[in-house]
Amino acid sequence: MRASMSQGLGMTSDRTRRKLVDRLVEQGIDNEEVLSAVESVPRHFFVEESIAHLAYEDRALPIGKRQTISQPYIVALMTQALVQAGEVSKVLEIGTGCGYQTAILAQLFDNVYSIERIESLSLSARRRMRQLGLQNVRLRFGDGNLGWEEHAPYDAIIVTAAAHDVPSQLKCQLRDSGRIVIPLGRDGYQDLVSLDRKGSEWQQTLLETVTFVPLLAGTSQ
Ligand code: SAH
Repeated sequence: MRASMSQGLGMTSDRTRRKLVDRLVEQGIDNEEVLSAVESVPRHFFVEESIAHLAYEDRALPIGKRQTISQPYIVALMTQALVQAGEVSKVLEIGTGCGYQTAILAQLFDNVYSIERIESLSLSARRRMRQLGLQNVRLRFGDGNLGWEEHAPYDAIIVTAAAHDVPSQLKCQLRDSGRIVIPLGRDGYQDLVSLDRKGSEWQQTLLETVTFVPLLAGTSQ
């Protein structure tokens, strides 16, 4: 585990964060590495100060530009699905948002690449990564539907916005025997699934029913 990131952030929330971890355990998250990543990343640091007191409730919160930071249980569940994918060191995330999920991934994997289509969100996530001293993360402002060819193939890909289908570029940029975790479906509720690649075959497992903001095309300020 990397050095405690909450030091010097001006809010003592270690105890509240441990309570959040206890709740995740009750909800069935049992991977120790994932639990300690959640315990070490200061979620309040990723939201506006006015709602920082809600940061350790198990709920989604607004991050501006009509986007949300995912509920901690869903972040933990998706992360656990990646950890359980086997030998994973290089991960691509689509939908950086505020960067909370990115920071969790950075605790667990050697190299984390993350793409965000809204420039202002990408910029503030970049600032947060710097303030937290996370050096194994690379962020990009762009359309995640296209993936990030330069660093492919990835061992795992996590998409934190809902799509009708898995974008074909993402499928191409995943290594054989890799795993994609993505919410599929568009209106209302979606199926959070993990897809395991075996050559040209894909094996799908349903993880949970979820509600994510949609995966959109193109970029925005
Ligand atoms: N993991 C994020 C969740 C943010 S919500 C967090 O912890 O905060 C989903 C994010 O996906 C939004 O910020 C949205 O702008 C972004 N998004 C939607 N479509 C995208 C696309 N095509 N490429 C990159 N990001 C996208």
